[in-house]
Amino acid sequence: MHQNDTHARLDAVAKTVTTVKEVRAAKKNTLLLHAGDVFSGTLYFNEFYGQADVAFMNLMGVDAFVLGNHEFDLGSSATGHKGLADFLKAAKFPTVAANVDASKDEHIAPLQSRTVSASPTDGRIYDAVIQTIGSEKVGIFGLTTAETANISSPGSIAFENYIEAAKATVKKLQAQGVNKIIALTHIGYDDNASVDNDQQLAKLVAGIDIIVGGHTHTQLDVPVAVAAEHDADDEPTIIVQAYQHNDFLGTLDVSFDAKGVITKHDGQLLPIAERAEDEQAKALLESYQTRVNEIANEPIGVTLANALPNPRLSDPSPESVRANETILGNLITEGMLLKAQSLNPNVVLAFQNGGGIRQPIDAGEVTVGEVISVLPFGNTLAFAQVTGTELYKTFEHALKEVPKESGGFLHVAGGRVTYDASKPAGSRVVSIETLVDGEYELLPNGDETYIVATNAFTAKGGDGFTDLGNVYADGRVQDLGLSDWENFRDYLVREKDRIPTEVRGTLVS
Ligand code: ATP
Repeated sequence: MHQNDTHARLDAVAKTVTTVKEVRAAKKNTLLLHAGDVFSGTLYFNEFYGQADVAFMNLMGVDAFVLGNHEFDLGSSATGHKGLADFLKAAKFPTVAANVDASKDEHIAPLQSRTVSASPTDGRIYDAVIQTIGSEKVGIFGLTTAETANISSPGSIAFENYIEAAKATVKKLQAQGVNKIIALTHIGYDDNASVDNDQQLAKLVAGIDIIVGGHTHTQLDVPVAVAAEHDADDEPTIIVQAYQHNDFLGTLDVSFDAKGVITKHDGQLLPIAERAEDEQAKALLESYQTRVNEIANEPIGVTLANALPNPRLSDPSPESVRANETILGNLITEGMLLKAQSLNPNVVLAFQNGGGIRQPIDAGEVTVGEVISVLPFGNTLAFAQVTGTELYKTFEHALKEVPKESGGFLHVAGGRVTYDASKPAGSRVVSIETLVDGEYELLPNGDETYIVATNAFTAKGGDGFTDLGNVYADGRVQDLGLSDWENFRDYLVREKDRIPTEVRGTLVS
């Protein structure tokens, strides 16, 4: 059984527990695997930092878990990866990560053991584990996408080459007499092949029988068999992935011969919505739901006549928040600018990464829950002292590929950035100006320095902003520790009468 990318969508989890129990009742030798991205997505995460999710994973008896990119989302918060460490400590199942080096992280390093472990039942991180199913040994190793360095906040945690890590770990498992091997991956089914994906893994690494994947939220209604590109192993590798959230429980039945070669396989995605709720799980869920509903429904004191849409399209298009400024993005950056300038009047611009704006806000009364869902990452306000050259390079990066899959398109307040999309990437920015007393003033591309405001994720170089990453490494970023969603809430409440003209019409009180 397998799930992936559940993203704290716990409202249906009691039905998942029922489904898992049904499968266990029908079949003898089972494994339950989670292919990563438990963190981030709903108020269950913002309130309980993964503790609610791990309680259900323990309840349903997960056998192994791989770290997804979102498991590193708390890295830019004040407590760093303590939330992930607490999740791992609470887990009654092992985590597998053969290409993750956390030796430099104070919270995670003590929990990682770069070994192959037989039947661990704690939440430590191993390269691989060997579980005994019936009388047979099954090796399970984990791989996490190298994209994590750009799209989340791993800090000093490094991601090694996944092909090399896979080859080395398969060898170690085989050396221990294991001939049934599962790669539990969070690298995507068909994601950017130049970085990593499951199909490349299947083609390039011999000895893997099954890949249980996540990351691309792919709905593989039936398992896919991929032939290897080498002679040594003519057995195809079976790939499965179960879409997202708590929509499905994936199943894959496999039979092996004495040599560990798959002789038969059959798999499907079982829809969760149709199941009844498991009573024990329902009771556990209620203990979290009460608090989540309280936050979700608490009004902030602003009512919108119209919704503030946020088209975060999975297939980036010109309408996407990742390619255009939106009213919601303008409000967030305006709120950021006013806060920043109240602390330092020399701030010339504020900008927010489009990928960090996660949800729309509906028309009607705005609730605390909605505001947190828009800005869920626990980001704080940061100042960066940048040269004109660094600022222009930052916007060249933001405009490199529009629309783009990453969330690095920047929404701007306090000035304007003029660009020519017909020019080659790297030479698109025409000018960057700051607004002073209603007049635009050029910020020249050169050595002069400016203070800009953004969120801590972007200021530290997230989304591949390497120039900002260098500014951070150089000690020129100041993290003010002020929560982005709280500032946005306060801005909406305080400034509702002086919201910029083009959006004022959406506010009725
Ligand atoms: P999904 O979230 O649907 O599983 P995914 O894992 O590929 O998909 P995206 O939805 O593309 O991730 O989200 C990654 C984007 O989220 C990054 O490119 C970045 O813009 C944004 N992001 C990640 N962490 C933070 C953060 N701490 N602060 C602000 N933005 C962030």
